[in-house]
Amino acid sequence: MKIYSVFRSIQGEGLMIGTPTVFIRTSGCPLRCTYCDTPQAFDKGEELSSDDIVERVQTYRTRDVCLTGGEPLAQKDSLKLIQKLLDIGHSVVVETSGAIPLDEMPCDGKLSISMDIKCPSSGEEGKMLYDNIELLGPTDQLKFVISDGADYEFAKKVIDEYNPKCEVILTPVGGKDLKELAEKVLKDGLQGRVLPQLHKLIWGDEDDR
Ligand code: SF4
Repeated sequence: MKIYSVFRSIQGEGLMIGTPTVFIRTSGCPLRCTYCDTPQAFDKGEELSSDDIVERVQTYRTRDVCLTGGEPLAQKDSLKLIQKLLDIGHSVVVETSGAIPLDEMPCDGKLSISMDIKCPSSGEEGKMLYDNIELLGPTDQLKFVISDGADYEFAKKVIDEYNPKCEVILTPVGGKDLKELAEKVLKDGLQGRVLPQLHKLIWGDEDDR
């Protein structure tokens, strides 16, 4: 697999926010979101076998692993890597863009899918696979990055229409300015969690933190 980096940090997003986690950042992504904060991972990286990747992960002696990108599921060996990590006892979160089918993901209590639905300001909302939402269960999460009022209304419509069984996360683009989004969610009684990107509050926009 082509891998941009393996590093340990604090999980900054979603249900496992705050948890020490080893991140495997894969290279490459079929999307080009306007606000992408990891364009450095589009092309750069090194070829590593899944055994090499697992070996690097093991050096950190950390239970939680997050497979992120880029778009990890764009590489066919991702499923093999996920299974290896689960088999040796890791809890795994897979962060995916919403543009790759999820029907081949393993069924395992230690695996959680964090799937984005890209809103209009991303420029990529037309590539979302809405059938994926049906495949997300109570330990998974559906994430919307909200940039403006149009994104918020779009997210609200998707939540109303698909009524996800998983947790719903709403995060402001940039990860820090929560007040306006929080007030809208409360006013509308929207069933979703408003969360920051904790790593950005701690480390700003440093690469791989
Ligand atoms: S899906 Fe993620 S990595 Fe790919 S362009 Fe969008 S924000 Fe960047």
